[in-house]
Amino acid sequence: MSIDGFSGWSHHYDTIAGKIEVPYQNADGHTTTLSAGQALNQLTGAPQNATRDHLMPAYEEAWGAQESIVGDTLNHLAGFRLQNYQLHHVDDFLKRPLELSRMSRRTLSTMWNVVEANKDMFIPYMDRKAALLGKDHYDWQDQTAPIMVDGYHSQSLSYDDAADFIVTNFNKFSPKMAALAQRAFDHAWIEVEDRPGKQPGGYMVELPERQESRILMTYTGTPDDAATIAHELGHAFHYDMVKDLPEMRRDYAMNVAETASTFAELIVADANVNAATSVGEQINLLDAKMTNPVAMFMNIRARYLFETNFYKERQQGLVTPARLNELMLAAQKWAFSNHLGTYHPHFWASKLHFYIDDIPFYNFPYTFGYLFSLGIYAKAQADGGDFEERYIALLRDTANMSTEALAKKHLDVDLTQPGFWQNGANLVRKDINRFIELSDPFVK
Ligand SMILES: [Zn+2]
Repeated sequence: MSIDGFSGWSHHYDTIAGKIEVPYQNADGHTTTLSAGQALNQLTGAPQNATRDHLMPAYEEAWGAQESIVGDTLNHLAGFRLQNYQLHHVDDFLKRPLELSRMSRRTLSTMWNVVEANKDMFIPYMDRKAALLGKDHYDWQDQTAPIMVDGYHSQSLSYDDAADFIVTNFNKFSPKMAALAQRAFDHAWIEVEDRPGKQPGGYMVELPERQESRILMTYTGTPDDAATIAHELGHAFHYDMVKDLPEMRRDYAMNVAETASTFAELIVADANVNAATSVGEQINLLDAKMTNPVAMFMNIRARYLFETNFYKERQQGLVTPARLNELMLAAQKWAFSNHLGTYHPHFWASKLHFYIDDIPFYNFPYTFGYLFSLGIYAKAQADGGDFEERYIALLRDTANMSTEALAKKHLDVDLTQPGFWQNGANLVRKDINRFIELSDPFVK
């Protein structure tokens, strides 16, 4: 019944999103129409403030124009889910999402409490980034905007150089991870051609028949693309380490799936910052590294807060688009410490993740995976020696036990207590302080 009754709504969202048109005025005054995907590319990556600042209200308005049909879609997806829970005598809408991530409610609330307790550390970061961009306020559309100071222009990195850089830096933490990466490069497992008509994003696919993996993405020579290769190679390494296990022990959940990938990405992001040849480049790369904690502590948190409050109200009946806007705005204000100049109230409509049918609450597993990999990274730096063997043992157990048991067994930490999470937050704080210190000479 789900094909037409539940998944149907998820597909319906894709149909709506495919028809979104965002008017956009070029630098030469010419107005064109962008698709939602094209507009989002500009909003997240355009270096010029004017491009992002003009596009943001148009993007918000384009989704606003469709709010009634998108709102119906969201209400019916959640309605089907809640009805299904009720028929199974489940009255807690977080029960299933937590089961899928094999984690307890206590762990989830401890993690969010630590995020809440540390959220104000981002205020000086947001202020500084706004100043470096030459703006009065840090806005929603500035979260991933690149910073160019001290005459820095991003230089293109050849694919072969990126490959060498990744292998060299993986090798410092795990020779086996480096060997897998080298194998992937040597045997052309990674399809990176930059050609028209190709979908954005990166994706790793397992080939169980060959016990190999393939990566599909587009390489354009930016540090971000190199980070994506590292990220996907992290997934490939995870698969390589569990491929000989029985099927059910390979079926790990989303929260731990993003651990190996984020860990690999962290190695390369840190190495990038340290290899920078100018202060301008270092600031740019450190800020690029900050986009992860900004997403995990604030953006993803806003999604979680919104979704929790939406599900509470949806249990009582349909929730109007006006109310969805209110809930989203309140969630963003709370998560971003009330510190943005511009918010995105129709984010509930523009974000695909709210419309994924097979995974409810497609948000907190990201924050979990990020902070979990930060904890592993901190341990890797502290332990040295036998880190590799212990890391591999952890990966091989990811589909085998609860995340609490996994963390206890392999990291000797208690996820229901704030200590582990606070250590991760402290690493972020260190990056913020370094960013402020480095960029001091570039603000008036
Ligand atoms: Zn991933």
